[in-house]
Amino acid sequence: MLSQFQAVGRDLFTQGLVSSNSGNLSIRLGDRLVITRRGCRLGCLQEQDLIETGVDKNDRHTPLASTELAVHRAIYRETSALAIVHAHPPHAVALSLTETEIVPGDAEGLSMVGRVPVIGWHMEVKPGGLADIIAQTLKEHRIIMVHGHGNFAIGQLLEEAYNATTTLEESCQVLCLLKSLQVNAGRK
Ligand SMILES: [Zn+2]
Repeated sequence: MLSQFQAVGRDLFTQGLVSSNSGNLSIRLGDRLVITRRGCRLGCLQEQDLIETGVDKNDRHTPLASTELAVHRAIYRETSALAIVHAHPPHAVALSLTETEIVPGDAEGLSMVGRVPVIGWHMEVKPGGLADIIAQTLKEHRIIMVHGHGNFAIGQLLEEAYNATTTLEESCQVLCLLKSLQVNAGRK
């Protein structure tokens, strides 16, 4: 299990999809979940960075869990997800500041992540916030963006949620390039 977390955490970090201490990962095991520790570094996860606690019930490990625990719990309660990736992919975050929905322009992105809703416009978002609305929206989508913050992606495996994250970021990179080409064309 540690090796799955390490592989995804390292890839997110080396691809610039999380900064040194941002982002979080979890998997569900029945009525328990394993989530990355509050403030840990996803790029170099160790055994002690994985915190096991209840999907519903608190225990002595709960305070050690990621600050986004409330969102992960709500997602597991509302969806059939068994894994969650939360990251801060920069091009997707940029578009989340200007769009209410991100629609990939490339065929692969569109078929894999579909139309991606941006949640949390005109709301103050704190860590762990918007849990219910994020969970409800993930009933219909495999990935969503939180306005000006980052993505939550779900899957049966961490790898799947990671793939949705990188696919969305690649599509957003293309969308941003396209926007800058259009701006430059307008200047000529
Ligand atoms: Zn975040």
